[in-house]
Amino acid sequence: MSAIPVIAIHGGAGTILRSAMNTETEARYHAALADILQAGQRLLENGAGALDAVTEAVRLLEDCPLFNAGHGAVFTAAGTHELDASIMDGATLDAGAISCVTRVKNPVLAARRVLDVSEHVMFTAAGAEAFAQAQGLEFVEPSYFHTDARHQQWLRARGNSGTLLDHDSASRAGEDDPIDPAKKFGTVGAVALDANGHLAAATSTGGVTNKQPGRVGDAPLVGAGCYANDATCAVSTTGTGEMFMRMLAAYDVSAQMEYRGLALDDAAREVVMNKLPRIDGRGGLIAVDAKGNVTLPFNTEGMYRGFARVGEQAVTAIYR
Ligand code: ASP
Repeated sequence: MSAIPVIAIHGGAGTILRSAMNTETEARYHAALADILQAGQRLLENGAGALDAVTEAVRLLEDCPLFNAGHGAVFTAAGTHELDASIMDGATLDAGAISCVTRVKNPVLAARRVLDVSEHVMFTAAGAEAFAQAQGLEFVEPSYFHTDARHQQWLRARGNSGTLLDHDSASRAGEDDPIDPAKKFGTVGAVALDANGHLAAATSTGGVTNKQPGRVGDAPLVGAGCYANDATCAVSTTGTGEMFMRMLAAYDVSAQMEYRGLALDDAAREVVMNKLPRIDGRGGLIAVDAKGNVTLPFNTEGMYRGFARVGEQAVTAIYR
């Protein structure tokens, strides 16, 4: 008997901003996560493949301004937006990725087109935009990605040391986001198992606030921010991208299952709770295996996350 299809999503991890904790704000995040999970759940229920379910879930996360990807992405040090995304099909090990795009409305759709039609795996900057344009994808003015909340966050980052993680959360009273916006990793991602036992993963991000233009993190890198293999698991990460890259975090979960025979949850925890902290890697990941097991570990105070099995109520959470 095949496992029940399931989808899991994340909307970034980070430090909880206690001043912004209130039931109304939290409810907005829970509702956004639940809506997107239900959309993915409906697709899987109607027989959609895992690849289509994660594409759609990440597209919806990108369109939601609460999360740092697509509309609502963070600012670079130059006051611009540079978006990265990747997607992987566990059945074929096909993958597609784009980085440093500034006008593609939904980076995950560009990554998906790379997977579907290109002999290449990754395009960057102008080449990625030319590819997306040739594919007929929707373009927006760079101002589309601008949100006042992210702009304020960027101005504060510039006023401080200029690095994302060194900010004093006390200076952010009134921020309407329960996870401290200056200490959160706002990448979004989805992983899914479909009715045919296939796995897929997708990740999309605006990167880290005040990043140097041209900087690329883990999100668009297959094996670092995204990985899927029907034989093991599907993984999407969020956190300090540089450390996830050095640790090949997403692939390492799969490798620990394949080479050490670890169960999904043990493999994921080993990476997030033991290996990443050794190099000060902060963040988390979501993962699902072919049996339908789901794990959502993180080593920060919170991570926007949730999962939904077909036929069951969606589960969402923010804090530990
Ligand atoms: N991992 C992402 C990056 O380094 C940031 C994030 O998770 O928000 O670009």
